Amino acid sequence: VPVNAALAVREQFPAIPAGWHYLDSAATAQKPQAVIDAVVQAYGRDYATVHRGVYERSASMTQSFEAARAATAALIGGAEQEIVFTRGATEAINLVAQSHPRESRNRVLLSTLEHHSNIVPWQLAGYQVDAVPLTADGQVDLDAAERMASEEHAIIALAHVSNVLGSILDTKRAASIAQHVGAALLLDGCQASPRLPVDVAAIGCDYYVFSGHKLYGPTGIGALWGKADRLAALPPYQGGGAMIDRVTFEQTTFLPPPARFEAGTPHIVGAVGLHAAIDWTRGIGLDALHAHESALVADCREALRSIPGITLYGPEDSAGIVSFNVEGVHAHDTATILDDEGVAVRAGHHCAQPLMDHLGVPATARASFAAHSDVSDIEALVRGLHKVKRIFG
Ligand code: PMP
Repeated sequence: VPVNAALAVREQFPAIPAGWHYLDSAATAQKPQAVIDAVVQAYGRDYATVHRGVYERSASMTQSFEAARAATAALIGGAEQEIVFTRGATEAINLVAQSHPRESRNRVLLSTLEHHSNIVPWQLAGYQVDAVPLTADGQVDLDAAERMASEEHAIIALAHVSNVLGSILDTKRAASIAQHVGAALLLDGCQASPRLPVDVAAIGCDYYVFSGHKLYGPTGIGALWGKADRLAALPPYQGGGAMIDRVTFEQTTFLPPPARFEAGTPHIVGAVGLHAAIDWTRGIGLDALHAHESALVADCREALRSIPGITLYGPEDSAGIVSFNVEGVHAHDTATILDDEGVAVRAGHHCAQPLMDHLGVPATARASFAAHSDVSDIEALVRGLHKVKRIFG
């Protein structure tokens, strides 16, 4: 049985021509036609500003924009008023890093596998960063996290799924570690939201962030989910229109969340496109997506293991992502030869330089899967890697 038998959605992706093998969905997902249609319709038929217009068109655009917020909340099990639209995960983490009331706590606890966007914002905000080590197979070592977490930590911020290793975090255990020391738990859901069912209430986290473009939606839109009482305690991050209650030259008062954090005209059409992407993803089902990608990962790891001289990184049960290196070949050379064979993989440090330092390599090649991936992508990858071996052999 082909591993993609249950999905068979490739023909819904117009930017993936026959013979091209897109294995870079962890960087950004290709878009199904349903999302492209929603964006075209929003600009070409329904377009107007939101929240301000009194005319009918603007009122209905506002309804669409707020419906996108409700859909985003429903995707991760939060409430509508707990969703702040941002440019993406990066802006969402910066918002929390700048605004979270740290009281007298000046440290954050991260892990060795974090993306730069879950490291640098904390440094810019003046926090001292502590990094939890990894287990031998590349999971966040939560035993170590438990020992390291202290009442000096304002936040514990961890990737739900690693963008390099595909490691899946035990989120409930992370939440209990954070609760034990009174720290807030922020989860970076960039890689989890397109490939795992997420329920923030069941996890017990305080903040959850993700980017629309990795979830089959447009670029330039993402979300911060924050527990209502957390958001209520956050001062504004940026000032401008749409976030105020009353402005005078002497003083300004602000709207309650989420409007307080959405200064300026928002990415209206991005939100509409994200809504379509969420509907499309939920139509397949995140359980089905996870099962599909897990089968591909197992297949891919087995196939790569059969080629001598390939190092595989990360745990066996990684979520949709396989990082590897060919012995004696720089990952960029591997990716360039694969590109000649019609196989698109990412090569580099994947915005995770501390993880590369930990692995002792300058870079890895990374194949990442999505709903449209199938065994033909793995077969092409294997053919390409045999060519890499022939050229460098
Ligand atoms: N965290 C992780 C785990 C990611 O994979 C990415 C994107 N590569 C980001 C954060 C940043 O997302 P964005 O660039 O969309 O803000």
